[in-house]
Amino acid sequence: MRRIYLDHTATTPLDPRVFETMLPYFSETFGNASSIHSYGQQAKIALEKARETIAHAIGAESGEIFFTSGGTESDNFAIKGVAFAGGKKGKNHIVTSSAEHHAVLEPCESLRDDGYDVTVLPVDGNGLTSAEQVKASVTEATCLVSIMHANNEVGSISRIREIAAAAHERGALVHTDAVQSAGRIPVNVTDLDVDLMTLSSHKMYGPKGIGAIYVRRGTDIEPLLQGGGQERGKRPGTENVPLAVGFAKAIALAVAEMPEESRRLAALRDCLRKRITEFFPQVLMNGHPTERLPHILNISFDSRKTSLEGEMLLMNMDLRGIAVTSGSACTSGSMQPSHVLLAMGRDARTAKATIRFAFGKSNTEEDVEYVIDSLREILRQMTS
Ligand code: PLP
Repeated sequence: MRRIYLDHTATTPLDPRVFETMLPYFSETFGNASSIHSYGQQAKIALEKARETIAHAIGAESGEIFFTSGGTESDNFAIKGVAFAGGKKGKNHIVTSSAEHHAVLEPCESLRDDGYDVTVLPVDGNGLTSAEQVKASVTEATCLVSIMHANNEVGSISRIREIAAAAHERGALVHTDAVQSAGRIPVNVTDLDVDLMTLSSHKMYGPKGIGAIYVRRGTDIEPLLQGGGQERGKRPGTENVPLAVGFAKAIALAVAEMPEESRRLAALRDCLRKRITEFFPQVLMNGHPTERLPHILNISFDSRKTSLEGEMLLMNMDLRGIAVTSGSACTSGSMQPSHVLLAMGRDARTAKATIRFAFGKSNTEEDVEYVIDSLREILRQMTS
């Protein structure tokens, strides 16, 4: 059976060029980057080169990049690290939005349990928060505003620069989760004017288990771990040199190949969108119509017009070898509708009857044709 992977926002396969680059650092150059002998120094040189490459890709200085275990850790570090430092100075208010990833929402909830004041701003029908909303919610007590750059489910891109200006006016720091945007669209910390930014390697054909956080020089942030001086005391623990080297190679390739690849993926996405609306005109499109990532198409079947069981829909796609998701989470054996789609105003049944197509390097026009034929057949069976 043909198998088509259309879930590149969940993860991406390792690029063979990245794999090749990493290999020597598992065996020949295996030293501990903190050791002072030559083995350690070779590892340290590779680590610092990787840091420089990642910094360069987002317009930062290498001293502003700290390696972590991935996007989840970077988000937790940004939120809790700034909150702990801010709390000591009486700044115990955090602002975020209802469409954020759980890696942002859950640390915020945990801080709320610990007595912090947390404002979760509503989003509009495209999943976006405005600078005006941020401006109205930030106070002298706000230590951090955390709004994602691009949404992982619907692909909408936030106006981070305007949001940052609104937050900075009242002295709050700004964090953005750029896990889905980095490597897909240009991301530059100076243009976005953020103080902290989250990156993850496995969303851009790099290895899993490594990410980074950009922390603007001079930003007050407390480490979440203790036990060593690595990463200038901000993130102790022996550095994972092969993964750092792989991450750097992945981001360098993503940036170099971005213009052509983005155009190609957007064309595939637009073709799929056009064809779906031709045979199923009442389909709902989720996400901003223009301010969006090039590779994501998120559609819902309106529960008021079509009775479609979301789980069955995805199962039928899987039976035809097509790997997609609805963005719903499976909790205690039952499917919960996506919090992002609910926040955007979709009802629970419609949110469950959703498909997110996330294109990537391996996808072709033939894949789009196969998906169209399969979906048409599945919908015919499920709605007849
Ligand atoms: N933030 C966003 C927007 C994501 O999409 C993800 C992963 O899906 C994460 C954070 C978590 O990243 P990681 O898997 O590297 O922990």
